[in-house]
Amino acid sequence: MAKNTKDHENTAKLTPQREAVLQVIRAREDHPTANEIFEAARAILPAISYATVYNSLRYFRETGLVREINFGDSASRYDGITERHDHAICTNCRKLVDFDCNEADDLMRAAARKSRFKPERVYLTLMGLCPDCRDVTN
Ligand code: ZN
Ligand code: MN
Repeated sequence: MAKNTKDHENTAKLTPQREAVLQVIRAREDHPTANEIFEAARAILPAISYATVYNSLRYFRETGLVREINFGDSASRYDGITERHDHAICTNCRKLVDFDCNEADDLMRAAARKSRFKPERVYLTLMGLCPDCRDVTN
């Protein structure tokens, strides 16, 4: 799950605003929302606007430098790791962590057989209680 290293050409000509946004996303492991990215980017570039952050996020999504994750029930979250990996999200505190499911290829093949789709990629999202929340409720 190494961060992207082959995107040098894409990042070399970034504006300072886009650079700040990318820096924020890559420095964090908590998959921040656009709002959280805006707050953190403001600490680097106080004059940056929310619109600029939002446009930067769209640019990064379209160029594949950042992955947008949406669980359908809250604001999209942004991930600086673009290699395939899976997520576990806490249904209590919304903590979102990375993991690798080694069986993902098998799952994808099984899903492809059942749906009769030609598979391209599969993402797994585990919903449940994170270790902190599990300790509190048990
Ligand atoms: Zn939790
Ligand atoms: Mn992730």
